[in-house]
Amino acid sequence: MKISGIFEQTAHTFSFEFFPPKDEISAVDFGVNVGRLMKLSPSFVSVTYGAGGSNRERTFALVNYLQNKTGMNVMAHYTCVGASKTEIIADISYLKSINVNNLMLLRGDPPKGTTDFVPHNDGFAHASELIEAVCSEFRNTFTVGAACYPEKHPEAKTQEEDIARLKEKTDAGADFLITQFFFDNDLYFNFINEVRNAGIRCRIIPGIIPLTSYSQIDRFVKLSGAKIPSVLADKIAASKDNPKRLVQTGIDYTIEQCKNLILGGAPGVHFYTLNKSGATVEIYETVRKYVVNETV
Ligand SMILES: Cc1cc2nc3c(=O)[nH]c(=O)nc-3n(C[C@H](O)[C@H](O)[C@H](O)COP(=O)(O)OP(=O)(O)OC[C@H]3O[C@@H](n4cnc5c(N)ncnc54)[C@H](O)[C@@H]3O)c2cc1C
Repeated sequence: MKISGIFEQTAHTFSFEFFPPKDEISAVDFGVNVGRLMKLSPSFVSVTYGAGGSNRERTFALVNYLQNKTGMNVMAHYTCVGASKTEIIADISYLKSINVNNLMLLRGDPPKGTTDFVPHNDGFAHASELIEAVCSEFRNTFTVGAACYPEKHPEAKTQEEDIARLKEKTDAGADFLITQFFFDNDLYFNFINEVRNAGIRCRIIPGIIPLTSYSQIDRFVKLSGAKIPSVLADKIAASKDNPKRLVQTGIDYTIEQCKNLILGGAPGVHFYTLNKSGATVEIYETVRKYVVNETV
């Protein structure tokens, strides 16, 4: 089903992001976790495209399996890293042929070991160009999602400039947006105000990641530039030497974060699951209770 159709039926969506497992053991673990998450009947699930354009086949294989064997609504991520326009159109045609109805279209990050994004010489430099090309070639075939950044994209000089670029993505055909993860809800709500003032009207679903281990913190902050609010930093520091307590601290914080988002008007939550299920199941089951108005 197209995500736009789901939006017509409900004011809130709850969705899960997966990445293709890297080896056999991770694949078994993944199967167990997906089984648990499927029981929650997510609105849709999404499958990431390998950083730097790697693991394309694994993404497509997993998308094919989830779309055609599990009955879940699937969104395939796709980036224009290293691909020509012809290759991009061929890839999207393939996704159409395996019944994919939803795409998250992204520019992608530079390949590992490089810092600047260098477009293919017959490819696209920005997500807006990719979105425009796919929407005009495959008119109305897909619901198209795009990425947005409540703490601005790391390459953007200012938030204002980044939001102007974001408007180009929705003007090009993006139907909805999912945010980079963040830990401070004020940043999301301020961002929504700025985005609405810039004339962007579509749904902006907060992307949320539960912090459940100490080693994640540096990695996530480096990856996204996300600020950790002092209240969370203090709680994490207090549980540093107690991994079990740290997991519960992360879950409790994320439950409060999601509850506050929903009560503040967010149209649902997209969970960056990291292919795990424990934290997401607990958070989702609690947060779902705060969805009081299901009708659009
Ligand atoms: C929800 C979500 C899902 C993601 N999934 C994946 C994934 O599956 N695989 C993966 O590899 N990565 C993924 N990413 C990461 C993403 O690829 C990176 O953040 C990447 O650096 C930017 O992608 P984008 O689509 O936002 O790019 P863009 O929208 O092109 O923006 C990138 C930068 O360029 C600037 N910009 C945009 N247009 C112009 C222009 N016309 N002129 C000048 N500057 C411009 C923007 O302000 C921004 O600073 C995801 C991110 C999010 C938030």
